[in-house]
Amino acid sequence: MIRVEHLSKRFGDLEVLRDVNAHINRGEVISVIGPSGTGKSTFLRCLNLLDPPTGGRIFIEGQEITAPNANVSLLRQKMGMVFQDFNLFMHLNVLDNLTLAPVKLLHKTKALAEAKARELLQMVGLAAKEQAYPAELSGGQKQRVAIARCLAMNPDIILFDEPTSALDPTMVSEVLGVIRRLAGTGMTMVIVTHEMQFARDVSSRVFYMDQGVIYEEGPPAQIFDQPKKEATRTFINRIRNLEQLIEDYEHYDIYALTTEIIQFCEKHFLGPGQRDAIIHLVEETMQLCMGTDNSTETLRRREILRKTGGLSLFISYSEKTKQINARFTAHARLETILNRSQDTDGLGMMIINGITKGKAVEKIEGDRVILDLPL
Ligand code: ADP
Ligand code: MG
Repeated sequence: MIRVEHLSKRFGDLEVLRDVNAHINRGEVISVIGPSGTGKSTFLRCLNLLDPPTGGRIFIEGQEITAPNANVSLLRQKMGMVFQDFNLFMHLNVLDNLTLAPVKLLHKTKALAEAKARELLQMVGLAAKEQAYPAELSGGQKQRVAIARCLAMNPDIILFDEPTSALDPTMVSEVLGVIRRLAGTGMTMVIVTHEMQFARDVSSRVFYMDQGVIYEEGPPAQIFDQPKKEATRTFINRIRNLEQLIEDYEHYDIYALTTEIIQFCEKHFLGPGQRDAIIHLVEETMQLCMGTDNSTETLRRREILRKTGGLSLFISYSEKTKQINARFTAHARLETILNRSQDTDGLGMMIINGITKGKAVEKIEGDRVILDLPL
């Protein structure tokens, strides 16, 4: 359905897409993943000619859309696009947002366009909101309206550019749910996303983009579990795990750290129980490690941490075994991370042992002291 040959795109001296080649069949759902700034958005914008390519050719159903005489507006109608920040018409209510283009561009009657709009609003769960203005909707609702508006043009292909990135975590799943349902209807879709679990479930193939090329592509099981190339593996591991360095006691931000943990849990669809367990575990461990008083012992330990590069936290989650592990490491001069002299009432260790079911293990390897907290 879509064929891309040697696509390149530069902005002035900046070569953003170097040599992109791709083949997308009808009904396929392609997820595009990769570090930011590698040209994922530019790739989508070139596909529907929002950004004119600098070189190469793009074919849609055998027709070259990069040819000088191509019918660009017809192409745009076939290909819908959903943006990160919704792009709704703020001065129009939901129903008018959905009927404007079908009436103006497809020359539908108002009545027909409205009937179709209501059907689509039903499908995205927003039938009750047809008179609302975008400003009255939540982010998740706005994005569902944007998807319905895109569908109102009857596209053959939909391009999504990070459709959930601007949303509060609580609203991500309602939007992903709508996209999942669309995937089930056989719609051809290309989705740039950071939601890896979603990409894994919904895609027929995954494109890993890096430095202006599709660096590796394959079925989700290959890209996520057995990437063939080193850069893909590094990227997959980085997004799968959470890594934080707590440099010293005075300067760490427990709220920022908690937010990171919450996002990590959302990314992996971990429930509130597991989320709260991880947060408690991290808080208790940090208190035992860094102390809460100003005793000589506490100050001595904080000084060691400051001089030896701090305390690192690495949280990993295996989708296969469903095992979560929180690993703290520090310089071996600290001797122990779980400093029991801080735990006078024994409550800290009780909580840690409760959450890890007594499986906390601390050991010294080389010049590192390592604490593994499985849960
Ligand atoms: P991604 O979506 O993977 O994060 P983008 O496609 O948005 O990456 O951007 C790739 C690179 O192209 C970035 O360095 C960005 O600054 C640059 N870029 C994107 N659009 C433009 C533009 N209109 N003019 C100049 N540079 C741009
Ligand atoms: Mg982008």
